[in-house]
Parts: sequence; C-alpha cells; structure tokens
Amino acid sequence: MNTNSKPLNAYGELAGDIREILITSEQIQERIQQIGALISVDYAGKTPILIGVLKGVLFFMADLLRTLTIHVEVDFLAVSSYTPSTRDQGLVRLIKDLDISIENRHVLFVEDIVDTGLTLNYLMRNLRARQPASLEACVLFNKPENRLIHLPLKYVGFDLPNRFIVGYGLDHRERFRNLPFIGLLKPDAL
Ligand code: 5GP
Repeated sequence: MNTNSKPLNAYGELAGDIREILITSEQIQERIQQIGALISVDYAGKTPILIGVLKGVLFFMADLLRTLTIHVEVDFLAVSSYTPSTRDQGLVRLIKDLDISIENRHVLFVEDIVDTGLTLNYLMRNLRARQPASLEACVLFNKPENRLIHLPLKYVGFDLPNRFIVGYGLDHRERFRNLPFIGLLKPDAL
C-alpha cells in the first residue's frame, strides 16, 4: 500500500526516473520512532556518541536524533567509495576522521545501509581499536542476501531484498538523495 502523502508525480523531474516507491516516507518515520524509543531506553544515563558515515546517513541521523529523549553526542566519518577491486578486499579509506575521542565512551554506529557488510566491518574494527566502553550498530536498511561478513546489528530498520535502492540519503551517482522515500530506479536511469 502506498501511504505516501504525496503521489509520485509530485516529485517533478525526479519522478520520471522512479519505477516504484518501496518504502514510504511515513513508514520510514514510523520505524525510526520505534528504534529511537528503544535506544532511549537502552542508553538511558549513558550519553552515547552516535557516529555516522557521510553522506548517505544524513537524513537517518537527523531524524533518529530528533526521536531520542536522552543526552547524546554526534560525530561523523567520511570514507572514499571503493572500486570493485578494492571492494573484494574490504578496503575502505577514511577521508574524514572523528572530531571527538570515543575512548571509554558508549558508541552507537549509525549506518544507512548494509549490503556485503565489508564497509561496516572495516569501520567497526577501526572504532573498536579506539577502545570505546561499548560499540553497537544501528542500521536502517539491511540487505542480508549479499552478506560476506556476518556482523551483529543491534537495531535494524528494514530487511530488504537484494535490489538497488535510492532516496532518503541514498544516491545513484550522487543524485536522488533528496527523495524522502525509498524507491527503485527505472532501468534507463541506472
Ligand atoms: P557494503 O557492501 O560494504 O555493506 O555497502 C557499501 C556501500 O554500498 C553502502 O554504504 C552504500 O553506500 C552502498 N550501497 C549498498 N547497497 C546500496 C543500495 O541499494 N543503494 C545505494 N544507493 N547504495 C548502496
């Protein structure tokens, strides 16, 4: 059911490239509210640091933060996107590091999407080496079919089939991040 308040044709020139709305903006917000309520209980009194990877996590981080009813801090990393050859080796290059120290702090790593798990694995190892008091992962979109490395995910928004999605911060060649829903592209837009 499409519970989006706006029809696809309200998205102007973006609409022409979208084949289907997979998850509406309302469904995303509802799920984030639920996850935020869990985090607020689990981390009560702990002032966790939420860490996200730019740029895809921007919308999720902003919306998740606003559901939390506990003290939190926030910081960001940026990584270079990898080529198919470096991807196989799980190589990720940090191009922006954290501004704040996470040693002895409770860290919640916030990710927009996990596919093979290589990026998350690399970043969790990198963060664990800085000796946080605890380290957990919160992922909005989980695509388990392609998983190469199994990682425990404490909070998951949606389990999705192996399809390329755009919107809500996720891009195709830097475009489509500004869609408020998760959509599938038409074949000629890929
Ligand atoms: P990994 O395979 O390492 O788990 O995911 C690596 C990165 O691939 C993600 O952080 C994300 O940037 C990108 N990615 C994976 N699946 C999708 C998808 O369906 N749509 C978009 N836009 N990016 C994806």
